[in-house]
Amino acid sequence: KICVAGSVNLDLVVRCGHLPVAGETVLGNGFAKYPGGKGANQALAARRLGADVSLIACVGKDEEADQALALLKADGVDLSMCRATEDAPTGVALIAVEPGGDNQIVVASGANACLSVDDLPDRIEGALIGQLETPLPVLDAALERCPGLSCVNLAPAIDVPDSLLGRIDVIAVNETEGAIYGLDRLHRSGGMTALTLGARGAVLLSDGQEIARAVPPHVEAVDATGAGDTFVAALTVALVEGAEPGKALDFACRAGALSTLTRGAQTSFPRRTDVDRMPSG
Ligand code: ADP
Repeated sequence: KICVAGSVNLDLVVRCGHLPVAGETVLGNGFAKYPGGKGANQALAARRLGADVSLIACVGKDEEADQALALLKADGVDLSMCRATEDAPTGVALIAVEPGGDNQIVVASGANACLSVDDLPDRIEGALIGQLETPLPVLDAALERCPGLSCVNLAPAIDVPDSLLGRIDVIAVNETEGAIYGLDRLHRSGGMTALTLGARGAVLLSDGQEIARAVPPHVEAVDATGAGDTFVAALTVALVEGAEPGKALDFACRAGALSTLTRGAQTSFPRRTDVDRMPSG
């Protein structure tokens, strides 16, 4: 059983010829809405990989919430701890994408900022997955209430106290986040660090020593949005199932690679059978 505490967003995506500069209006096209938010993404990814998943989150009482939660519902993520508040709208991410794939993103946290310690159960059964798009005190309390395995994706990179880092069993970062926090600092926190390297795969470090390395299979990546979320979910699922670290890392890399094959985040999250069938890199 895996409990994810985190954000739910609706991504509003517009494609445009070039990204606007300050004060500029550009005409875009191809407006699309995609369910997103790191919490929701990681919950769905873990569910598709076969885990029993519940999501602790906060959304608004609006249409955006229904759209943002649609795929989670369809795949059977337990949403009984997902609260709808009158106080704020569902979180949205406004995303402009230009032809080369470069983007500009503004996130309005909305209801995600209303997630509170009161939304947590007294005890979190099973494993916990967290990220940094919801208030830090909630993550801190969730870690305290979870005797099982905890895996936290330190994204987006924000200031995090050492006391919180010290409660995490597995810290997951990409290269940018790893550089911002400093790998030395992450190692000193005492847990394992999973560092993802995009198409080059990932390494798992313990006490600053590399204990495993995995390379994803070669794929024709179309859109890597959500690859990191898939990786984090898959790593946790494998570790919870008792896989040894090297095997878990390899599983996570194969899942991450498969998530890049189609556009969007949640729609491209792979299912267990697809990952099991995918050869290692
Ligand atoms: P993030 O999305 O957080 O920036 P990464 O880009 O490092 O994270 O990707 C996470 C994981 O997804 C990688 O460790 C790898 O397994 C997989 N992945 C990402 N991009 C590719 C790619 N182009 N080809 C194959 N696998 C990829």
